[in-house]
Amino acid sequence: MPPVMIPLEQQRPEDLAFIDQAIEMGEEAARALEIPVGCVFVRDGKVIAKGRNRTNETRNASLHAELDALSHILPNATRNATVDFKPLSDVTLYVTVEPCLMCSSALRQVGIKKVIYGCANERFGGCGGVLSIHDNPNLVFSEPLQAVGGYRREEAIMLLRRFYLTENIHAPAPRDKSKRVLKTDIPPLPSATELAKADDAQMPSKA
Ligand SMILES: [Zn+2]
Repeated sequence: MPPVMIPLEQQRPEDLAFIDQAIEMGEEAARALEIPVGCVFVRDGKVIAKGRNRTNETRNASLHAELDALSHILPNATRNATVDFKPLSDVTLYVTVEPCLMCSSALRQVGIKKVIYGCANERFGGCGGVLSIHDNPNLVFSEPLQAVGGYRREEAIMLLRRFYLTENIHAPAPRDKSKRVLKTDIPPLPSATELAKADDAQMPSKA
């Protein structure tokens, strides 16, 4: 199933405020010459961790924004007495780009239940962009993950485009990108009515 995109008119202001903080983290990543993806983890209306891509800085290709933030949260999570230790089941992740295959699996493993993201990830997405790791029922040992996108989608796309336009200046053999131009056209999402017609059952509740 392709990524579920929420139309603008159904996006809640509080969710947009958190995705704006994720975008700020993405901008920080861009300033650090990392692929600009940022995220925040939220519990009870409060940001409990922020993360951004650090793959270049750490030379660790797995240190995506989500795993960066998790590395700050998990050591401090309060251990409870239950065997089924899921310290993050009441946490929502806001991330600028649909989580990749690796992160989608990791998020299920740590018990995250909901992800709200900016743009879909057609190359690496694990929430429907390439594969549907987030709700694949064959992964019987972890709860499915609800993932919805479209929040500040254009900002997230432009953040990536601006980055890729100017990247490689530090690469050993920089490619000449001087003739490239920043594309600003972004195909719109389907309207709420079109989406509702497509499949009522796939729409998440507004609550
Ligand atoms: Zn990832």
